[in-house]
Amino acid sequence: MKKTIRDFDLLGKSVIIRCDFNVPISDGKITDDNRIVESLKTINYAIDKGAKLLLMSHLGRVKTEEDKLKNSLQVVAVRLSELIHREVKFIPETRGSLLEEAVNNLNNGEVILVENTRFEDVPDKLESNNDFELATYWSKLGDIYINDAFGTSHRAHASNVGIAEKLPSGVGFLVEKEIKMIGEVIENPVRPLTVILGGSKVSDKIGVIKNLVNIADYILIGGGMAFTFLKAKGLEVGSSIVDLENLDFCKEILEKYNEKIILPIDVVCGLEVSENSTAIAKKIADMNKNDMGLDIGQDSIELFINYLEKSKTVIWNGPVGVFEIEQFSNGTKAIANHLANQNIITIIGGGDTAAAVINEGYKESFTHVSTGGGASLEMLEGTILPGIEAIDNS
Ligand code: ADP
Ligand code: MG
Repeated sequence: MKKTIRDFDLLGKSVIIRCDFNVPISDGKITDDNRIVESLKTINYAIDKGAKLLLMSHLGRVKTEEDKLKNSLQVVAVRLSELIHREVKFIPETRGSLLEEAVNNLNNGEVILVENTRFEDVPDKLESNNDFELATYWSKLGDIYINDAFGTSHRAHASNVGIAEKLPSGVGFLVEKEIKMIGEVIENPVRPLTVILGGSKVSDKIGVIKNLVNIADYILIGGGMAFTFLKAKGLEVGSSIVDLENLDFCKEILEKYNEKIILPIDVVCGLEVSENSTAIAKKIADMNKNDMGLDIGQDSIELFINYLEKSKTVIWNGPVGVFEIEQFSNGTKAIANHLANQNIITIIGGGDTAAAVINEGYKESFTHVSTGGGASLEMLEGTILPGIEAIDNS
């Protein structure tokens, strides 16, 4: 068990909270403040306990001086200040006397937001390479370190692993929930456990397949990756996306876990991945060489739902079709709709899968929709995330 923010006496302490404020910004405006809203629980808790808050986050990709111009956290400070109804002092630097003085002058319950940690990546990638000197410098600004940025916990950066190794540390409420939800389901699932896997490529999900195939009772495979499995069974899959290098891997998995793995029996095809593509439904056995499978068909939806109906836990990673295009979104929508109305444990992992269910308005209908794309995938692979590993044990 990892220490959490609740395990510390925060009164009068300088608390560094690594948040995930990596929000979408367009024309200098935040277009979706969900990540800031999600961080409020931990921030408000620390304020209530009388901590002096030093917030850190990355924002976007920062590879050049030019990238800095569009990736300043200043807009986040403004929005956060509105949300917590108090001043958030923005420091337009990641180090230096302005920052140090602001930290020294903090009173209990006051909040500072430091500039984008990835500004330290120009030119020498100090943040992303977990530079020792940078992490030491940042750690000296605080008494306690709290990691509440799940989305970057699969990376060992100076602002997470680096600082955590140098200060008493714990996780915030968001990270605590992710560990509890995904971790517990994998370690000790309420059975039957069914995993739905989709998305485009087998190669992106090898680790997830290898880990979950051992744990799950059933694995339903949809999306682009289904076609590599179907081809591995010797079926014609037309011009559907196929991962040739992983054909043998799929063959092995199919042989070894034959009863567990459920593949689609029909598809919705198009001639190309495009809004203008006409959707044609067919049995898998009727696919010809020009057909590109872009969604699972109605019979497969029913087949999958049959398995979901006998499950007590469902983990879903990867849309079962090209859900971004209306005529190929039915499978993903039908599964989201079915799961949203079940009284079972439902865990959604993966950036696109989360986006798909949130777009359908189902965020609150699932037990847990993970906030971290890559980080949730790595947890599903059974990997221990470095940003969490570095936190003190309780
Ligand atoms: P996640 O982010 O949830 O882990 P992925 O990134 O693996 O999911 O997969 C999402 C992508 O997979 C989507 O962009 C979707 O369009 C694509 N996809 C789903 N089904 C197919 C298909 N049959 N052919 C090609 N791409 C597909
Ligand atoms: Mg994705």
